[in-house]
Amino acid sequence: MIIAERKPFAEIKAMVAPYKKILIVGCGTCVAVCLAGGEKEVGLLASQLKLALGLEDKRLEIGEITVERQCDLEFLRPLCDFTADYEAIISMACGAGVQFLKQLCSLQPIFPAVNTTFIGVNNEVGYYTERCRACHNCYLGITGGVCPVTMCPKGLLNGPCGGTVDGHCEVDPERECAWSKIYHRLELEGRLDNIRQILPMHPHDRCTSPGTVIHPAYKRRYGTHE
Ligand code: SF4
Ligand code: SF4
Repeated sequence: MIIAERKPFAEIKAMVAPYKKILIVGCGTCVAVCLAGGEKEVGLLASQLKLALGLEDKRLEIGEITVERQCDLEFLRPLCDFTADYEAIISMACGAGVQFLKQLCSLQPIFPAVNTTFIGVNNEVGYYTERCRACHNCYLGITGGVCPVTMCPKGLLNGPCGGTVDGHCEVDPERECAWSKIYHRLELEGRLDNIRQILPMHPHDRCTSPGTVIHPAYKRRYGTHE
């Protein structure tokens, strides 16, 4: 899932300072799971803003709404009429959701209330770690399910650098070297021969942004560009 962190309150407050009526839009999917931008966080931010501005004798009218996913038109369309009443919008979705919402609500300024951080996993409540950099060419089938692009700080595809110390990473000695982990995983799987495979240079030409993916079944509908 996408992991995000809420921006510092002072930054959010400064962004909406010129406005008297704002709408805070939460997202009920990834950012809700990582406690950054779901319904509860929308309510919390609204209360913080009201309290802080009340102490300064300022009035701010705040609307609150949380949609299932801000990165999905199906859930955003019903918001169009609703947003018309507001001078500005705060989105608590990831960067993709913020941009998609702005595409629909073109008149008002939109402000992100979270910083989108990485694609990761939910280890425990409040504890998330990065696992994927969306590199366009997944190697996990060869590397025993350990991502060399993400888990090795140097993103090495063909074995370790020379700095591994007792199986630990030279960049962060607290962590196991990704290639040491790959070796042990492959050994357990009985596929250690994989370690000898030389992976070709990563297809960086595929990584230009913005990326587009069209499902093969929909190529005729949307055109054939990749
Ligand atoms: S190799 Fe790593 S970064 Fe690339 S798609 Fe697979 S998990 Fe993601
Ligand atoms: S020690 Fe291992 S994980 Fe760390 S940078 Fe070198 S190869 Fe990558």
